[in-house]
Amino acid sequence: MADSGFDFDFIVIGSGFGGSVTAHRLTEKGYRVAVMEMGRRWDPENLPRTNWLFWRWIWRPNMALRGFFNLEFFRHVVIAHGCAVGGGSITYAGTLLVPKDSIWDSGSWAQLAPWKTEMPHYYETAMRMLGVIENRILGPADRLLKQVADAAGVGGTFYRTRVGVFQPPEGEAGGRTYPDPYFGGKGPERTTCISCGGCMMGCRHNAKNSLDKNYLYLAEKRGARVFAETKVVDVAPLNGKADGSEGYEVRTVKSTAPLRKGPRHFTSRGVVFAASALGTLDLLFRLKKKGSLPAISDQLGNRVRTNAESLIGVRFPGSREDFSKGVAIGSGIYIDQYTHIEAVRYPEGSDALGFLCTLLTSGRPGWTRILLLVRNFLRALLRNPVRTARCLHPFGWARESLILLCMQTLDGHLDMRLGRLWFWPFRKTLVSRGQRIPTYIPQANEFARKTAELAGGTPMSMVTEVLFDIPCTAHILGGCPMAASPARGVVDFRNRVFGYKNMYVCDGSVIAANLGVNPSLTICALAERAVSYIPPAWRTQWDDAPEAGSEV
Ligand SMILES: Cc1cc2nc3c(=O)[nH]c(=O)nc-3n(C[C@H](O)[C@H](O)[C@H](O)COP(=O)(O)OP(=O)(O)OC[C@H]3O[C@@H](n4cnc5c(N)ncnc54)[C@H](O)[C@@H]3O)c2cc1C
Ligand code: SF4
Repeated sequence: MADSGFDFDFIVIGSGFGGSVTAHRLTEKGYRVAVMEMGRRWDPENLPRTNWLFWRWIWRPNMALRGFFNLEFFRHVVIAHGCAVGGGSITYAGTLLVPKDSIWDSGSWAQLAPWKTEMPHYYETAMRMLGVIENRILGPADRLLKQVADAAGVGGTFYRTRVGVFQPPEGEAGGRTYPDPYFGGKGPERTTCISCGGCMMGCRHNAKNSLDKNYLYLAEKRGARVFAETKVVDVAPLNGKADGSEGYEVRTVKSTAPLRKGPRHFTSRGVVFAASALGTLDLLFRLKKKGSLPAISDQLGNRVRTNAESLIGVRFPGSREDFSKGVAIGSGIYIDQYTHIEAVRYPEGSDALGFLCTLLTSGRPGWTRILLLVRNFLRALLRNPVRTARCLHPFGWARESLILLCMQTLDGHLDMRLGRLWFWPFRKTLVSRGQRIPTYIPQANEFARKTAELAGGTPMSMVTEVLFDIPCTAHILGGCPMAASPARGVVDFRNRVFGYKNMYVCDGSVIAANLGVNPSLTICALAERAVSYIPPAWRTQWDDAPEAGSEV
């Protein structure tokens, strides 16, 4: 224990985008920081070559699956998220986009701060740290997207994504190693991208700018201690001071231990929840319920957003083009004011998600759509049995598929609560409530059909969307709304938790609008902003608390 009597000044829970930014900036300000991360550490040597090695891909430690990617099934949505040292950045596609300014006009954060003048500075900083560039590598999937966009009259909206990938200069092959290109020699050496499309399986070529190569790397270099495979299960104020003014005790268990969980406890003056929207909600609900943090606002779990997403695609069985080449998300288009489509890929051989694909089927959700699917299937089977079988079996899926990620800025949200599942009533877990979010975006489906027609493929969509009317998202946001008072939200405009001192939430749970673009850059920029208000260690009074009604 250090002289202050606390094990650490700050404990950060989760090492993803919000957590790594916070850890880095707090160590820079002179604080002693610990990062608790329930996932494992990954490096190019232990990342799996394909997702058929599912025990090194999927995270379900209670089933001995200790990977970095998780799929969680709720009544309203299937959520994909990352779980590793470096959080979602290990499995993410590396796309880092600034959303439209209009996102600050709606949702509970509107009017809380002069966002449109403040945020550009934090976006710039986050982009510099994450090494964001315009993608220089277009693969067959991107070229086809452009071709269909031209045919649909929206070719003018085609853009190359902005990505956090170390790419070779134009005309040079990838795979060359350079000394740290980003941080004046303070960062790790890096190798240029070889366009293998493997970003979402974790980059095995040291080219993707995941957080363990920038923010988290620098935080550790400055002394932050990262506790991997360590799950936080309790956070409670110390010395009976209910507002946390005398610090917190943080309890952990070993996340990958089957039986002997090795409980530990640590003390700190401040706590940052950065466990992602799902992780932070789950933890805060449990802590509120068990009485460790009873003052957390009752708004917890409200206004969870899915970025209004839908995953569709087109499969080209026997295609000579290899659609897996390029970076995971190489380009995008806007088919109308609200609807954004990106060309996505998995690397060759990573076909396991092909099991979740079926023929694209329109129609009203419910039995009619299921009957239509059966009809489409029988019709396709009669017309071309070999082709239909080749579309539906998973092998070759990544090589032969153009995956289209469709996102909308239109509003729509659901709520999360801690409840019991009828089929597993033994333990409370997060459950979704509220209105169903439309699974199906007619304009996007039409675009997939057009692509299939133009290039001779078969339009596909997710089984869960067609059969159960449940969309799939990799961009779950919200649940700890940012607002002017605890009656309306969980944190204030500087990410400070209502009801507590020196406690913050810095992750996707504070996002208060559907961004319409991939959210990681915004999560980083908001975390940069939140920490910029925390004074340096030598000046702190340890009395940082939100004021209700703190609108500016
Ligand atoms: C396949 C895939 C591709 C994606 N591609 C992109 C993309 O290209 N661009 C983009 O912007 N976004 C992308 N995303 C989304 C992006 O990964 C998330 O939006 C982002 O990671 C969220 O950041 P965060 O800081 O909220 O939390 P995360 O990055 O999710 O980090 C939270 C961390 O907290 C840990 N944790 C949770 N609970 C606990 C606990 N109790 N104790 C200790 N640790 C805990 C988790 O293990 C996790 O590592 C993608 C997501 C997926 C699944
Ligand atoms: S395309 Fe391949 S080499 Fe390039 S960043 Fe992605 S995984 Fe790494």
